[in-house]
Amino acid sequence: MESHKKKVAMVTGGGSGIGFAIAQKFVENQIQTIIVGRDENKLKNAKSKLGDFCEVYPCDLSRLEKIPELVESILKEFGRIDILVNNAGTNMKKNFIEVTDQDFQQVILTNLVSVFALSREVVKNMIKNGSGNIINISSMASQYGLPKVIAYTASKSAIEGMTRAMATELSPQGIRINCIAPGFIITDMTGKAFDQDPDRKNRAISRTPLGEMGKPEDIAEAAYFLISPGAKYVTGTVLPVDGGNSIGF
Ligand code: NAD
Repeated sequence: MESHKKKVAMVTGGGSGIGFAIAQKFVENQIQTIIVGRDENKLKNAKSKLGDFCEVYPCDLSRLEKIPELVESILKEFGRIDILVNNAGTNMKKNFIEVTDQDFQQVILTNLVSVFALSREVVKNMIKNGSGNIINISSMASQYGLPKVIAYTASKSAIEGMTRAMATELSPQGIRINCIAPGFIITDMTGKAFDQDPDRKNRAISRTPLGEMGKPEDIAEAAYFLISPGAKYVTGTVLPVDGGNSIGF
């Protein structure tokens, strides 16, 4: 716990689901955690549960022009950013031929381009500090083919490639970059989809060797490991946290 004191983390999409659980794990370990998201009320509600180690910075990350000033204002207040968790994401389920160019671009903008733009701004500070930790969140959609999520799959597959490229370029400067590929985790994003489609839910569970859906806390534990000194020799990896779903038959 001692080693994390005075560290500053940014968690995008930290107002709900997996991002909230990661923020919770960080604040429990006295990491000053800034949660970023579009919905100010949702973020404030999250802060009321997370307490003094949490700060709220509303920002729609798909508005790329806002990202440099977001990072600048965080640096003005906190002086440094040690940890960035690129967790915010959006999904779109549509038949392949019904996805418009605009639909596709919107998902890529939120899930990929904004991750690059935010990482670039944060990495400028991490290079100055000579240290840093970035965690990207991909999905089992990039481990195997899922139907009707073409743009989401493209974005999450790109995140994994970008993790490796960032790690080779930035690790020599003390910055570790890793990726977590969550399996089926119970959150708002999946809860609704599965409630409307019990067959899909059963299929997901039947090919998950550990026999149940995951919890946001399962991803938070993995994220905490990856930013900890215990993972100091780990960079450029994609860690599935999926109950074995990606290797299940
Ligand atoms: P969620 O909907 O609870 O969280 C997504 C968060 O991202 C929300 O807080 C949302 O407000 C935020 N967000 C979306 N677009 C944004 C934007 N333009 N600017 C700022 N914030 C934005 O869903 P979740 O399940 O917690 O998902 C978190 C991450 O995990 C996503 O990247 C998702 O793709 C990934 N994931 C989730 C699962 C799962 O089973 N739940 C599986 C694989 C991957």
